[in-house]
Order: sequence, then structure tokens, then C-alpha cells
Amino acid sequence: MRMNEYQRENVFRLLKGIKSRSPFYARKFEGIDVESMTTQEEFETLPFTDKGDLRDAYPLGLAAVPERDIVRIHSSSGTTGTPVIIPYTARDVEDWAVMFERCYRMAGVTEEDRVQITPGYGLWTAGIGFQAGCERLGAMAIPMGPGNTEKQLKMMEDLGTTVLTATSSYALLLAEEIKRRGMRDRLRLRKGVIGSERWGEKMRNEIASDLGVDFYDIYGLTEIYGPGIGISCDYRNGIHMWDDYVYFEVIDPETGEVLPDGEVGELVITTLRKEGAPLIRYRTHDLTRIMTGDCPCGSRFPRIDIIVGRTDDMIKVRGCNMFPAQFDEVLATIDGATSEYQVMIDHLMGRDEITVYFETDVPDGETEPLERELVSRIKSKMGVTVIPKAVPLGYLPRSEKKTNRIFDNRY
Ligand code: ZN
Repeated sequence: MRMNEYQRENVFRLLKGIKSRSPFYARKFEGIDVESMTTQEEFETLPFTDKGDLRDAYPLGLAAVPERDIVRIHSSSGTTGTPVIIPYTARDVEDWAVMFERCYRMAGVTEEDRVQITPGYGLWTAGIGFQAGCERLGAMAIPMGPGNTEKQLKMMEDLGTTVLTATSSYALLLAEEIKRRGMRDRLRLRKGVIGSERWGEKMRNEIASDLGVDFYDIYGLTEIYGPGIGISCDYRNGIHMWDDYVYFEVIDPETGEVLPDGEVGELVITTLRKEGAPLIRYRTHDLTRIMTGDCPCGSRFPRIDIIVGRTDDMIKVRGCNMFPAQFDEVLATIDGATSEYQVMIDHLMGRDEITVYFETDVPDGETEPLERELVSRIKSKMGVTVIPKAVPLGYLPRSEKKTNRIFDNRY
């Protein structure tokens, strides 16, 4: 995708000042004459910034403003070691809320709505972003945070929540609980704004119909403001990105080369306005593609596809590359299988074995045809033979956090 005029102006303005403002980038771009760059081709030669670099800057080494201008920090933990700390100026906080308000508007949320916010508050960026955008829009925020399903459902009913915001895993958990209690008719839900985790079309449709809502996938990451830098529209064909705040590229994760629009690769983001911790060519490790053509909704904001996986999720088994979305897609085509599954990869007797557990409502003892179908579809889609294990509904663990469905036990 070509940079537009506004992006070009802002990208090169950012590069001009970056070394004097940011000790982090002064070091990273040492020996590179970024100040005199003027073309997209030159920009595309710049080294990427990765999460590991941000960790090395712990605690406040990413700051590109004097400390008195920092009004807030957020942090992304990750599962390993040192957290990443992202400083925000007052304008960064404001910009984030502006983008988030746009997201709600794109989803058709209005000041009449009551928005139940179930993502977490605190160092993590989710909850507070959902709240700031909601208040800026003028809707009523119900700041629940995660967990305590009993209380969530009570507030949802008593306050007449119309918009649910959640991770997809938690939305699933709530949907199942609402169904089990037969309380859908007592609720006023009409929209769901759901964190864009990788989740199958089938699971999405199940949750949406159990809750009786329209779903919108919101995208973002703590390193770049947080959730709210893009959202899907009524047509649900990708995620519109606020390209006046972020410039994005899709690269080949192996070679680092920028890919043509339409090809799947890793999303890389450059912030256009961020003051506290501007990031240049930041590798998100999210796999997606830039979508070509116009969206029927008429929005001028360009789209990326729904995230299909993480570069770190890509797993090599017996010479085949696979990622979780492929399992989602296969299960979606099998009648009688739900969207809940787990994949175990083990090294047994000198050989890698893949076991796929999947939930079904087919009675025990009659699941063999389903299992056979699963094996043959995975074989034809991914080129590997798996061991199928049908399990009853509710057998696999649900999580209030992002769900990890693939367990590699080989090392
Ligand atoms: Zn659209």
C-alpha cells in the first residue's frame, strides 16, 4: 500500500526528530541517516522494532518526551520475563479515546447505549480504553472488569446492558451461561464489541446468536495505544484501520520484505502522532493481509483482514507449517463438531504425534464417523495425519483470558 500524503508528511516529520527525542531510537538507528529520508522506499529499509527491543528499554527507556509530560503508563506482560512499559502523554491518552469513540460509532453505538465493559482494568490497556471511548461518545459505561460471571449477568439484566465488550473467550463463556439459564429474553443486548482474537467464523456465529447481538471485531495492542486502532463495520469484511493515526505494512515474517496488498503476512505498524513512545515499523506478530478494493459501507479507512494467527503460533510438525486458524476452519466444516477444541503435539517413540480433542453433542460410542471425517479433512488441508478424540460438550476448559488451544509438548 502506498503512503498517502498525510502519512508521508507525518512519517518523515517523525523520523526527522526521532534521534534527538528518543534515546531508544538514537541507539537503534545509529549510523542511519534517517533525517534525510524522503521516500517510502527509503523508509522500507529501516530496521524493524520488536517486542524484545522494548523489553530491553525497561522501565522507561522508550520515553521520547521529558518525564513531566508523561501522564500515564501501560504495560504488556507477555508470558516471559520483563514487562514492556509504554508511556503516554496527555495527547496520546486523548488520541486513543478519539479512536475508540470512532470504533463505537462504526459499530453503531450511540449515547443511548449502556456499555458493559468486561476486559481488565489496570496496567493492561483494555478496560480503560473501552471506558474512555464510551464516555467520550456519551454512552453509559458499566465498568465491570473481568470475571464474576454471576454479577456480570445480574448487572446485564438489571441495568439493561445493550452493548457487551469482551474478549472472545469471555463472550463465549457468558453466552453459554445465558443460554444455560434461559435468560436471553430478559436481556436487552444488541451489539457486541469483541477483542479481535483469532476465532473461527463458526464460534463467532454461535456466540452472536446465543447472545442475540451483532458482533464487531476491535483490533489493537498495548504497544500501539491499546485496542481501538481499528474495528470491523456492519459488513464484517475485515477491520477498518484509523490510518491517520497509524501507518501499517504487511511483511514476510521470514525475509522482512514488504508484501503486495492481498498477501498474508505479518502486520507492522508505525505510529503517526504518538508522543510518549512513538514506534517505527513495530512488528505485531499478527498474521493478516491488506484488503483491496472499497468496502460497501463507504468508509474511506483501509482494511486489514481478521487476524488469522500469530507468527509465533506457526508450528512446524513433520515438516508442515500449521497455525490455529486452520483447525478452526476445518472444525467449522464438520457437522456435529462445535468450535471448541484443543490440539496436543507430543514426541512419542521418535515421532511427532498430533492429537485433536474436539467437543461434540453426538453421543459417546457414535462419534467414529465424525472422527474419521476430521482426520481426512485435516489431512487434505494441512497435509498431516492427526489422532482424533471426540469429547462431550463442556469437557474442554473455558478461559476468561485469551485461549491457548495448541499445546506443543515436544520440548
Ligand atoms: Zn466497511
